[in-house]
Amino acid sequence: MVSTTRIALSRSARNHRHRYARHRSLSRKSFPSNPLLRDFEFPPFDVVEAKHVRPGILALLKKLEGDLEELERTVEPSWPKLVEPLEKIVDRLTVVWGMINHLKGVKDSADLGAAIKEVQEEKVKFQLRLRQSKPVYNAFKALQESPDWNVLSDAQKRIVENQIKEAVLNGIALEDGKREEFNKIEQELDKLSKKFGGNVRAATKKFEKLITDKKDIEGLPATALGLAAQRAVSNGHANATPDNGPWVITLDAPSFMAVMKHARNRALREEIYRADVTQASSGDIDNTLIIDQILKLRLEKAKLLGYNNYAEVSMAMKMATIDEAEELLEKLRSASWDAAVQDMEDIKHFAKSQGAAESDDLSHWDINFWSERLRELKYDINEEELRPYFSLPKVMEGLFNLARTLFGIEIEAADGLAPVWNSDVRFYCVKDSSGKPIAYFYFDPYSRPSEKRGGAWMDEVVGRSRVLSRDGASARLPVAHMVCNFTPPVGTKPSLMTFQEVETVFHEFGHALQHMLTKQDEGLVAGIRGIEWDAVELPSQFMENWCYHKDTLMGIAKHYETGENLPEDVYKKLLAARTFRAGSLSLRQIRYASVDLQLHTKYVPGGPESVYDVDRRVSERTQVIPPLPEDRFLCSFSYIFAGEYAAGYYSYKWAEVLSADAFSAFDDAGLDDSKAVQETGQRFRETILALGGGKAPLQVFIEFRRRKPLPDALLSRLVSRARGNPISFEV
Ligand SMILES: [Zn+2]
Repeated sequence: MVSTTRIALSRSARNHRHRYARHRSLSRKSFPSNPLLRDFEFPPFDVVEAKHVRPGILALLKKLEGDLEELERTVEPSWPKLVEPLEKIVDRLTVVWGMINHLKGVKDSADLGAAIKEVQEEKVKFQLRLRQSKPVYNAFKALQESPDWNVLSDAQKRIVENQIKEAVLNGIALEDGKREEFNKIEQELDKLSKKFGGNVRAATKKFEKLITDKKDIEGLPATALGLAAQRAVSNGHANATPDNGPWVITLDAPSFMAVMKHARNRALREEIYRADVTQASSGDIDNTLIIDQILKLRLEKAKLLGYNNYAEVSMAMKMATIDEAEELLEKLRSASWDAAVQDMEDIKHFAKSQGAAESDDLSHWDINFWSERLRELKYDINEEELRPYFSLPKVMEGLFNLARTLFGIEIEAADGLAPVWNSDVRFYCVKDSSGKPIAYFYFDPYSRPSEKRGGAWMDEVVGRSRVLSRDGASARLPVAHMVCNFTPPVGTKPSLMTFQEVETVFHEFGHALQHMLTKQDEGLVAGIRGIEWDAVELPSQFMENWCYHKDTLMGIAKHYETGENLPEDVYKKLLAARTFRAGSLSLRQIRYASVDLQLHTKYVPGGPESVYDVDRRVSERTQVIPPLPEDRFLCSFSYIFAGEYAAGYYSYKWAEVLSADAFSAFDDAGLDDSKAVQETGQRFRETILALGGGKAPLQVFIEFRRRKPLPDALLSRLVSRARGNPISFEV
């Protein structure tokens, strides 16, 4: 999830055009004192400081401003006079901004944050100017209509088409009067989204439940009690302790989820649940009207651009069409339904066996609680006890071995070759089977709470590019970074990981592989650039699947002291836990995705049906227990009203289908047949990992799978639960 956001960020940076006048800069001053302005093979991460940000970025932007003007003056509808200078502009801004943005993520300080904030607005202004360049747009249109069009490669054609499509979606093609109207709508939408998000945050902040009686919070784990006591302290209860309280429960995810899953006090669960689903739906932070205004303006925007609805706008740059997404959601819905009903039966049965008074009348606030009890009983794998089996060096070795087997690459330590921002950061070189370097990556594994943000992500440092060749002959090689937050080693004890962390590093490595193993020389669509964002999670989720592959997992899961294998029954539990309540969880995502699509396709603002009616209609088909009449979940659905997921929430499911289907190609070939696995791996490398954004993702998928994507592999995970195979839970 984190990485999705990161990629979304780097993808938006891609749109910004900007030209690096390297020669001029070098002739004026061969070695600028500001490291942000230097030419480099690997970024000088070791010397960039907060003090460089403001002068560096402002100087860069000024130069680029001039370069853009020059491009607009001299532009011709030809590759060398349009796309090459443009790529240099896009690239320089992406790389330099990427550097400081990266340092903010891994080596933050108050000074750095303030310095970035100071130049942020200037940068955004420049980006807007770039995006709205009419001469550049006109040149792309002219190129498309010129005789040169026919000699362009497929990747080059896609660059031109995407540039035009993006420009059109940004309103550039509109006549002056309409463009003004368009810009006004954009500004208004921006304001409304911010207001929506602000209201949600205000609502979350406003709600607090003070608990003084220990009985009332029974069941909460130590971490949650610690959090609740900490909150109480900051609210003025100076003597609050985790053991004796008082405690403050909030609607922040960690606090809210702890209550839903663990609080034995049913009344407390109900109160917190009701507070959550009615957030930001009343008083002066009511989002109801804002939702309606947003939907109305999005529809107006779509109509201005010549589309029927906003979903068509959103999906113009995505892999799926509205019909395909709806069809998929319905298929998954009907397949998930029976499994979810079965899940509910299991929970009821289990709650009854535990003597729960509410077992015949389970409500929304009981489901998480009882399924968590059932999970503990059936599959609970004590994460802490598993850590000794997953030492970081062994896991990385296993991951690199897998990459060798599947893709025929060698990954070698290259520490010292590139400057790093912290001495724990590792640097690696990726070589092809002939021993030739094809890419590099940084790996920053350990948590450093004082300066590094949480979570895990991957991003590009530089991308593969012919135009930005360092020697004038061969393409510049791609460089990636992977950032995680694992436990640092202590003394001779290596960093020990949970199974979830193992999945995380496989996931991020999948993104990194797509960036590094690209064979695309056109920088604007190399690696992860230019890939439709409902397709971008394919390689990452694909890699996660290998964590459940027995040979792969057993190959890395060895006790760091004794060397003994992960016990067989633990492996089986990991496997089973993966599909525990898969139908219910799937239905929940389908509800979100479906209501999102409905609101952006058929919904008529101001029409006979309210947004809540739409949600209710969707919920009746996607929730085994109907929602509460006062459920106002839409009022806090920030993904689509304050984020970038409008008519895009389906992409979670879409990407899951693609990755499960891609992995099933290995299943079909025979996971025990090493030759077949290698061949399939090579094909994966030559298609999904190599072609980047240079080819439509459906075409790429078909080249790999030799057919269109099918949801069967994902469906089979769901239905295996529904058909027989009920969970037994004798104590
Ligand atoms: Zn991801």
